[in-house]
Amino acid sequence: TTLVEARDVTLSFGSTPALRGASLSAEAGEILAVMGPSGSGKSTLLHCLAGILTPGSGEVRFDGRRVDTMGEAERSALRRDRFGFVFQFGQLVPELTAEENVALPLLLGGMRRGAAVRQAHPWFERLGLDGLERRRSGELSGGQAQRVALARGLVASPRVLFADEPTGALDSLTGEQVMELLVSAAREQGTTVILVTHEPRVAAYADREVIVRDGRTTSIGVIS
Ligand code: ADP
Ligand code: ADP
Repeated sequence: TTLVEARDVTLSFGSTPALRGASLSAEAGEILAVMGPSGSGKSTLLHCLAGILTPGSGEVRFDGRRVDTMGEAERSALRRDRFGFVFQFGQLVPELTAEENVALPLLLGGMRRGAAVRQAHPWFERLGLDGLERRRSGELSGGQAQRVALARGLVASPRVLFADEPTGALDSLTGEQVMELLVSAAREQGTTVILVTHEPRVAAYADREVIVRDGRTTSIGVIS
């Protein structure tokens, strides 16, 4: 069944069109790579799917519900309760410890601190971060920080993980390790992943890919 869908989405920043008719769909549990050159509109499309940006025209759906016509309160509840996010630069809060960063989405969802930290803990072993729970995030290496960001994206068991160039700031070996962890954790909990990348080596972890060029989705194919 289709979980995430964009149909003929357009969006302009001022008079600059960023999306000129982009369509895609992702099934529940699927890993979909959104590929294309820099500036083609990949991030903008991801932000539309995630209810962060409102398209000028077209339709965005999550689980059959229209996201593009939702009010801001309903959208932010959707982002908080159903979506997880991982970006190129982990965007951890550097003053907080690793475990506090991972627990953040749970705290924002109203969970009490002790329970949130307890739910965060298994992710440290799962992602090879044992012993780093109390480390200030600003003191982590790039690969460690990105695994912490991944744990934070998945800790609330989101239906959809939006990952925008999640390995873009890492060397290729570390990037591959992060992608392997991302894919196995997502598969384990049946999370749909929308993976924006311009790197074919990263897209190779996906089930299918859609190509964005000049604001349009041009093709969709199965990864061999
Ligand atoms: P990609 O993710 O493929 O690199 P983006 O979606 O980030 O592409 O950008 C698509 C186009 O929209 C680019 O021309 C970019 O400069 C422009 N753009 C993106 N975000 C903004 C913004 N906040 N304000 C103005 N222009 C933007
Ligand atoms: P990405 O690597 O994901 O395409 P960028 O580094 O291009 O992202 O952009 C980072 C942020 O800046 C995004 O939030 C994007 O919307 C915004 N942005 C991108 N291009 C422009 C632009 N021309 N003017 C203003 N903001 C932009």
